[in-house]
Order: sequence, then structure tokens, then C-alpha cells
Amino acid sequence: MEISFTGKRALVTGAGKGIGRATALALARGGAEVVAVTRTQADLDTLVHECSSIKPVCVDLADWDATERALKDVGPVDLLVNNAGCAMLESFLEITQDSFDVSFGVNVKAALHVAQIVAKGMKARGSGGSIVNISSQASQRAFKDHAVYCATKGALDMLTKVMALELAPYKIRVNSVNPTVVLTDMAKIGWSDPVKANAMISRIPMGKFAEVEDVVHAILFLLCDKSAMTNGAFLPIDGGFLIS
Ligand code: NDP
Repeated sequence: MEISFTGKRALVTGAGKGIGRATALALARGGAEVVAVTRTQADLDTLVHECSSIKPVCVDLADWDATERALKDVGPVDLLVNNAGCAMLESFLEITQDSFDVSFGVNVKAALHVAQIVAKGMKARGSGGSIVNISSQASQRAFKDHAVYCATKGALDMLTKVMALELAPYKIRVNSVNPTVVLTDMAKIGWSDPVKANAMISRIPMGKFAEVEDVVHAILFLLCDKSAMTNGAFLPIDGGFLIS
């Protein structure tokens, strides 16, 4: 299946590392003009070094006002990938106000805010667009020490559905991908222990974790016109974990 993003402008959050970085590079390779948003300047420097057409924006998305300022002149965006996220693992009884606020601030509130900014532009231009929220299998299953993370991803799934409902009249589609473990920097914190990793892998019918590219391919499909009638969908990238 040939997918071209020529003539499209895409914005990817959390584009400094992991899934977001690979998505930004794949979109640029596919012909899109890409705006890469993250909070670590050094990651943006290496990203632009790797692909000079990418436009970097450095901002902490947990800061509502700074995000507003950083994105107000970002220009038209046709495709949005709400990927920035954090996972702070704590047992339920140890959860602090700070970790709750930071996690919800990035994983839910920033996704809502960036989508609001981008979708207002899409609506004003009448050109429509596609938004993909990066959720997780953790939105649907309980994992030890993941109470806040699971709750943020559950909230993000519901946000995806309501956004899909409200934005469809403006030809804006909103979908999510829900990966299993992908061994990025984030996941290495929780899943590097072989005992824990093997216990998880044994619950995945395909018998392995997902690769970054597995997630990127699904994101590209949901962004492009090949999925023109897919709206409000939840796409597990989990080797069958959620149906097992
Ligand atoms: P990484 O930690 O590798 O990358 C996350 C990126 O998001 C980093 O560039 C990070 O920047 C950026 N980011 C985090 N917080 C902020 C912020 N406040 N403002 C701006 N940028 C921010 O994670 P992954 O690639 O693994 O995860 C990407 C998404 O996929 C997340 O939403 C995650 O929840 C989801 N996911 C991941 C899975 C996995 O197993 N890896 C499984 C299922 C879902 P910095 O490094 O500077 O903080």
C-alpha cells in the first residue's frame, strides 16, 4: 500500500524520542512537512540533524500557557499525532499529588489542548484533518503500579471518542492506537526486568513485544486517506493481548 503525505503538514508531539521521533521521521520521509514538538532541545537538534526539513518546537506541554504561545504561529496542520506521554510507576498507596498532576497534565490535558489548537485551525480552513492519539493497552487492563498511567490512558480513549463525535462535522477524524509494550526509553523503566518482561510476553498471543515500527505503521494508516471512513476507532497494536 503506497501512502504519500506530500502536500500535508503534520505535527507530532513527544517527537524527541521513541515512537514520536520515529513517526516524525516516517512522515517526513513520506513527503509531509513535519513540526516536531518536545521539551528537550538536544533531541530536537539531533532530529533536525537527521532530517533538515523538520521544524522543531521546544516546549513543555504540561505548561498550558507556554504551549499556547509556542503553537500559536505554527501554521496550518492537517495531521496531528498526540504522542507525548509519561509513565510514573508507583504502588497505589504511594501515589502523590504531583505524579497524578504531571501524568494527567501531559497524557490527557496536553493532548486535549494541542488537539484544540490544531482542530480550531482545521475547522477555520474547512480542510478537515486526521488526529491520532497514542493510547495504550493499559487503558483497558489493570497493571500493578500503573494506576495513574492506566487512568490517563482510559481518559484519553474517552477523549478520542468524544473528539471523533464532535469534530466529524468538520471532516476531522480522531482515532487512537493502543500498543502493548514497546521497548523505548519509557518502557525500559517498567519492563527491563526479564522476569517481569517474560510474564508479560507470555500473555501476548504473538509471543513478543511490539516494535516501534509496528506502531508507526498503524499511525500512518490512521493519518492517511486509506482510513477515510475510520473515526473514533481504537486500534490495539498488541499481538492479541486484549482479546486473550
Ligand atoms: P519515550 O519516553 O521514549 O518518548 C516520549 C517523548 O515524549 C519524549 O520525547 C519526551 O521528551 C516527550 N515528552 C514527555 N513529556 C513531555 C512534555 N511534558 N512536553 C513535551 N514533550 C514531552 O516514550 P514512548 O515513545 O515509549 O511513548 C510514546 C507514547 O506511546 C506515550 O504516550 C506512551 O504512553 C505511549 N505508549 C508507549 C508504550 C511503550 O511500551 N513504550 C506502550 C503503549 C503506549 P523528554 O524525553 O524530553 O521527556
